[in-house]
Amino acid sequence: MQHQDSWHSDRIKEECGVTGIYTRAGGAARLSFFSLFALQHRGQESAGLAVSDGDKVHMHRGMGLVSQVFNEEILETLPGDLAIGHNRYSTTGASAIRNAQPIYCTSSIGDIAVAHNGNLINTAELREEMLAAGEHLETTADSELIARLISNSLHLGVENAVSHVMKKIKGAYSVVVLTKNMIVGFRDPWGIRPMTVGKLEDGWMVASETCAFGPIGGKVVHELKPGEAAIIDRDGMRLAQASKTERPAMCMFEFIYFARPDSVMYNTTLYGARERMGVELAAEHPVNADVVVPVPDSGIPAALGYSKASGIPYTEGMTKSRYIHRTFIQPDQRMRERGVQMKLSPIAEHVEGKSIVLVDDSIVRGTTTTQIVKMMREAGATEVHVRITAPPIKYPCFYGIDMASKGELAAAVMTVDQIRDHLGADTLGYLSIDGAVKAVERDFTRNKFCLACFSGDYPIPVPKNMTKMAFEETAKSGEMTSFQKGQIPLFDAEETEDSSVTEE
Ligand code: SF4
Repeated sequence: MQHQDSWHSDRIKEECGVTGIYTRAGGAARLSFFSLFALQHRGQESAGLAVSDGDKVHMHRGMGLVSQVFNEEILETLPGDLAIGHNRYSTTGASAIRNAQPIYCTSSIGDIAVAHNGNLINTAELREEMLAAGEHLETTADSELIARLISNSLHLGVENAVSHVMKKIKGAYSVVVLTKNMIVGFRDPWGIRPMTVGKLEDGWMVASETCAFGPIGGKVVHELKPGEAAIIDRDGMRLAQASKTERPAMCMFEFIYFARPDSVMYNTTLYGARERMGVELAAEHPVNADVVVPVPDSGIPAALGYSKASGIPYTEGMTKSRYIHRTFIQPDQRMRERGVQMKLSPIAEHVEGKSIVLVDDSIVRGTTTTQIVKMMREAGATEVHVRITAPPIKYPCFYGIDMASKGELAAAVMTVDQIRDHLGADTLGYLSIDGAVKAVERDFTRNKFCLACFSGDYPIPVPKNMTKMAFEETAKSGEMTSFQKGQIPLFDAEETEDSSVTEE
């Protein structure tokens, strides 16, 4: 169960991070550990690895951060040269160990494991179909459906199996599959969720973000195209177009907030894209002020861009406690009421007596920004002008990002002026959709992005009655079956609900 302090309930939650690694020298689990560590920002609820030594698939998963789930002794129990890994933030399915990934299945070609980032929108149909066919489903996560579908199709050959599964599943996904002898990574036909191929000195890898390559000496080779698959085995890596490509629709929020600033997507670092968002923001919403202040950490590049473009000096107006989310100790009620003060502290001497431009990445419900504005005023700021790099979020996401339901989104129920008053700000300016697109794609191609949470234009049509928990509700009402004997148990760690403080 996640606690509900305002900071954490008001931030957009990351989705998941996946990796797949082949290293000729063996020790794939150790390399994967460090790659997952670099992807920790994409999910802090659970982590897992599946490793093949060519004979068996070994697994370990647990609740918490990568450093809490793995240690030297555990890595010793995971021998092999092929591995897939996963960091999870739950988007469907309860946050419980049974939904941790990778998911294990047996198949016609032996053990397989599957890990997934994203969200399917036809889980209810798929689940019904599979139960009717006598399939045993163990978890409430859509990832298990993908795993079962793949395991049932591998007799067709891996490329055909992936193509077959991609015809059946609808939604946003980047998937890694491990068999005893290979890894397959593939992206959905719209390329909503990211995945890039990298080269290691003695092998290959795929990962959600390129920041996972550096710590283990990997070099970026190729950002998978929508519908494309990378097949990595002991002979090398090959690419295959596993499904027809729809229009590319990469998630704009990867650029605004989720991905690590040093990662590269669409040929730009996220840092560069965010800095240019700040430049666009300064052009769209200029203001006379003394200093530009970022909300750390994600507001920093945009604040620098705003400062450069406007000539208003940049300063740090607050510091962020970097380790608060790395505890399993729950704050008590008094601490929750302190809201953002659990996480941010003002640097009064930088803002006292000054009018400030406060730059942040997004406003979801507005409670966090309200508290930050108040904190800056209490620290002595005379005027607070809020500038936001995400356009107003008016629609929910069904593609793997947990923001809020429509009625809870500030911009869905209030005008910009009403939100400004609600925040207690002097002025409020959001970057326009076109401004965000231009900051990423300098030649301006709006139709390369998913912009649905801003525009309501969903690239993959969403069923009318869909909610993010729809599948879980269906699953709860159905009979949950126990896992077949002789397979690696799904409950391979203590089954506890996550009580950690998850990062924004
Ligand atoms: S709706 Fe928004 S958050 Fe969801 S995939 Fe599209 S751009 Fe990303």
